This record gives sequence, C-alpha cells and structure tokens, in this order.
Amino acid sequence: MRLIVQKYGGTSVGSAERIRNVAARLIETQRSGAEVVAVISAMSGVTDQLLKLAGEVSPQPSGSEREMDALLATGEQTSIALVAMAVNALGGKAISLTGAQAGIVTDRAHTRAKISNINPKLIEELVSEGFIVVVAGFQGRTVDGETTTLGRGGSDLTAIALAGALGADACQIFTDVDGVFSCDPRVVPDATQMQEIAYDELLEMAGAGAKVMQSRAVEFAKKFGVPFEVRSSFGRKAGTVAKEETASMEDVVIRGITIERKQAKITMAGVPDAPGTASRIFSAVSAANVLVDMIVQNASDQKTTDISFTIHEGDLPQTEELLRPVAEEIGAERIATQSGVAKLSVVGIGMRSHAGVATRLFDCLGEGGVNIQLISTSEIKIAVVIEERDADRAAQLTHAAFGLAKPAL
Ligand code: ASP
Ligand code: MG
Repeated sequence: MRLIVQKYGGTSVGSAERIRNVAARLIETQRSGAEVVAVISAMSGVTDQLLKLAGEVSPQPSGSEREMDALLATGEQTSIALVAMAVNALGGKAISLTGAQAGIVTDRAHTRAKISNINPKLIEELVSEGFIVVVAGFQGRTVDGETTTLGRGGSDLTAIALAGALGADACQIFTDVDGVFSCDPRVVPDATQMQEIAYDELLEMAGAGAKVMQSRAVEFAKKFGVPFEVRSSFGRKAGTVAKEETASMEDVVIRGITIERKQAKITMAGVPDAPGTASRIFSAVSAANVLVDMIVQNASDQKTTDISFTIHEGDLPQTEELLRPVAEEIGAERIATQSGVAKLSVVGIGMRSHAGVATRLFDCLGEGGVNIQLISTSEIKIAVVIEERDADRAAQLTHAAFGLAKPAL
C-alpha cells in the first residue's frame, strides 16, 4: 500500500474547526487507499506564546535550554492529541505519538537539536494495523531520553526525515499558501504558482526571503533525496513539488524572484588593503550576533579598498556603534550607512546554461530607472540591493522581462 506523510503547519491546526478539517483530510487520504502518517505543528501562535512566557519568568534563558525544550514540546503535544481525538470522533482510527515515541533520536543540542537517527518500527506497526499515526513535529529525544526540539519551523524537518526513514511514497507539506510562486502575488498580481522547483532553487529563494519551508528541512530533503510537495490545507489544488533537478528544469531561465525588505547597507571606505581587516570587521559583527547577508569588497587600485555589506535594518544602530572603534583600529577612513534598502534576487538553475541573464536584469532595472547599489551572484542567483521604495516596481518589471507572468487566456 502507498504510504503518505502529511505535515500540517500551525495555521492549518489553528482552531478546533481547522483541526476537524485536518482530521477529515487524513481520513479521506487513508480511505483513498493509503497508509497515513501525519506530522503536526503547534497551533499557530502557541510556540511564540510559550517563548514569551519563558522570557517573563527567566529573562536570560541560558542555562535553561533543557527546560525550554520541555516547555516548547508541549505545543506540539497538545495539537497531536487534539488531531487524533478529532479523527476518532469522525469515525477514523488514530493514535498520537510524541517525537520520542515515534523513534526520533537527536543529538544533545537543546533548542536546535539535529536528528541523528530514526527508528520507525512503531510507526510502521501502527500504520499496518490501520492507524492514522499522528506524530508531534519539531521534537525528538536524546539517547538518554531527554526531550529536544529542532529549531523554529522544525516540524518541516520532522516530516521530511520521517518520509525518508519510512521510504514514503509521498510527502506533502500542508501550509497556508498554495505553493511556491514566481514572485509574491501581493506584489506581482500575475505571479504564477510553480509546478516544480529544484531543491537548490528553493534553498536560494528561502535564503533570499521567500520563507515557505525551514531551510534545514530542504537541505535534509536534498541530501537524502526526499521529494515533497508544498500545498495549501485550505483548498484542493495541487501544490509545488520540490525535487532533484531534471534536465528539463534548466529550460526555464529563471524560476522566481524574491524581495527582502527592511535591509540596511554599511560601507567601510578606505580600508587598508591588508590581511586580516575583513576578519576583524566581520568577527566584531558576528560576535554581536548580527547576521550579515551580502558582502562586497572592491578590488583596490590604491592601497585601500571599500567593503560593503547588508544587515537587517533593525540591527543598524548597534552595528554602526560597534564598528566605530574597529574602523579606527584598522585605520579605515569612514563608515557610511543607509537604511531603507531592499534586496531583489532572481533565482534559477537555468542560469547555468543560459548566457546573458545578468545583462537582462540590469537592462530591465536601468530602463525602469532603478539604481543598483550592490550586486552579488552565485551559480543560480543574482541579487541586487536597491532602494526599498523601488522594490515593488523592480519586481514587477523583472517578472515581466523574464516572461514569468501567467499566459494570457
Ligand atoms: N512550533 C514550532 C515553531 O513554531 C515548530 C513548527 O511549527 O514547525 O517553530
Ligand atoms: Mg511552521
């Protein structure tokens, strides 16, 4: 019999009514002739609420990571029990399992544990007895039996890892969007839903601000070759299938466009062109736990160079402050900052085999009067930093220039 893993995110189980809807879908899937394993997130808002409470009783949670995991795991434990009860109430046969009961073994890194091993024997027995097995996402246990969690969004990882361990015939990630789109439909109304996307494209799009899946889950799927479908739990439409790239996927020049807003740009100008300066700058930034995105250094024709990078806008005041003494120490001339910038990325494995993608992007932005402030590229992505107020228009122009719009009927 076919075995299907279905993951339902927090919004999909956000209320009693939605839980009943999920239960009905699980029963329907089983009746279509499949064995069903469900992976469930905490009801929407619950994990955030638990984190907030934890912060109120213990402003500095370090030292309490074990307790944090014990706390956060309750969110998923609530929702699995409710889903299983709803299935039973509708005349189905379900049983809930915690991560530990489901055989998910992790390392000891509390709050960001890695799955080290899955023993799916109990799940296999239960599905063969006709149960819909409802597994708590986001959690596992160490070899010593301690509860662990897998990092925010970790239910995606649970689903992919279980699908891999069970050799599932399908893994469906049910969420509150229809699938992955060529661009945010709120910005580009004629954006199209993709039928398929390569793992690497999805990873680049996630890194560029299109959050549909936890990145670690996608990396895991890529590593172990677990194809999955992202689709909506509210409608019936097919979603987007993420999988190993195929030759035909390269025919598309670019697959999608993403925008990341609320970015800031920092330029350290007149930096002495000497070993160790970049290291000094970025070790200071990362010591403050500020995430750096794009980094661009100029080729120096004199004895100095300029280094620019982007961070989240909210981190700007702190970063500026911590860099002043560093600039002085390394003998940089000045620091310039700008907030209110955005990053626009075009992503597609087709770039590898199509020449002139960058030129087409630059032409399109140039004709639209959009100034490019920084450029960075990878094998399958070109990203530019632009004024935030130009972002929507730039996305619309680029989307049209690369022919990503819905074909007119
Ligand atoms: N409940 C966890 C979170 O909010 C895990 C998940 O939803 O995937 O991050
Ligand atoms: Mg989630």
